Amino acid sequence: MKVATPGLGATTRLLNADYDPADDTSVSPPLHQSVNFSARDAAHLHEIAVPLGDRYYTRRGNPTSSRLARVICELEGAQSGLITASGMGAISTAVLSLVRAGDHVIGQRNHYVGITEILDKILPSFGVETTRVDQRSVEEFASAIKPNTKLIILETPVNPLMHITDLRAVASLARRRGITTLCDSTFATPINQQPMACGCDLVMHSVTKYLGGHHDLLAGALVGTREIIERIWDRSLTLGAIGAPFNSWLALRGIRTLELRIKQHNDNGQALAQFLESHSAVGKVFYPGLPSHPQYALAKSQMSGFGGLLTFELKGGHEAAVAFISKLKWVSLASSLGGVSSVAIQPAALFGEQLSQEVIDQQGITPGIENTTDLLADVQQALER
Ligand SMILES: *Cc1c(COP(=O)(O)O)cnc(C)c1O
Repeated sequence: MKVATPGLGATTRLLNADYDPADDTSVSPPLHQSVNFSARDAAHLHEIAVPLGDRYYTRRGNPTSSRLARVICELEGAQSGLITASGMGAISTAVLSLVRAGDHVIGQRNHYVGITEILDKILPSFGVETTRVDQRSVEEFASAIKPNTKLIILETPVNPLMHITDLRAVASLARRRGITTLCDSTFATPINQQPMACGCDLVMHSVTKYLGGHHDLLAGALVGTREIIERIWDRSLTLGAIGAPFNSWLALRGIRTLELRIKQHNDNGQALAQFLESHSAVGKVFYPGLPSHPQYALAKSQMSGFGGLLTFELKGGHEAAVAFISKLKWVSLASSLGGVSSVAIQPAALFGEQLSQEVIDQQGITPGIENTTDLLADVQQALER
């Protein structure tokens, strides 16, 4: 296997991280669309049934998914990884592997909606206590810690108000007390932020979003130390939310251009945020790359780019927002983000009553990789109309 070398750029490293000549000499990763793998004899069968082994039965692992895991590990600086059926498959498998009745879990007030559901409904129904804190305050994390706290779930930046969590501060707080930290880094991607370098134990991605990047697959990933991933793998055998080889193969194709795409998402996000902030029809703009963002300094200290996710208010309120979205030509109204084309959403239309009043009037735009001038022109003509 070619050994990826630290110091090289992300794209060079990821192009080489998964290459395995023993596997196949094809330059493009092969698809192992197989559930079964034959053993030479009984002893060999025993040999391949190891933790994280990928040539036994696909619920236990699959060579194509292993390759995807290796690439994500390379980008995140992790030892081991597990590919799941979706981002929610990753987070639910991790949580169900790491906590049990009587434990306490800390999460943030703002999370991806599925994580909120796990914290508010699922875990309490199994006798796990949960507390949600304002992610902007390290003190709130500190004072929420109890003797039985086992896990802290983080997500930064978070949709829709783009709050940032101080990863270094919270991770060190947790580490001193032996509490595991799990960071959903979906929106940042490993190009813009590496939670493990900030001290987090475990990183989760919805591969469905930027890593896949083409609106065509559903998958999730967990990466961390070998020890923690083996623990989760052991539970995932039974929970069964394991990734499909074909989706891993699609993701391996998509992730090869991750850095190029994220550069363009970053550029479009920054340009659009600045344009919106200067437009007279627009109220507040929420984007971590704007100096007006209350946590801009923190964002800059742990992110190398600010991504393609932004939220803003139209001074005309809800009606203006509905009209604005209907006038966009290149931006589609759709629920999921992170692919090559831009999408716009009113959080109110998507999440309804689950949202606080604070975010009801916001509009979200997640720029794709369209040419920046075209994207700005489209948003400008829709605002003017
Ligand atoms: C989409 C998303 C998830 C869930 O991922 P799926 O692949 O849709 O299951 C989790 N966290 C964040 C931040 C997301 O954007």
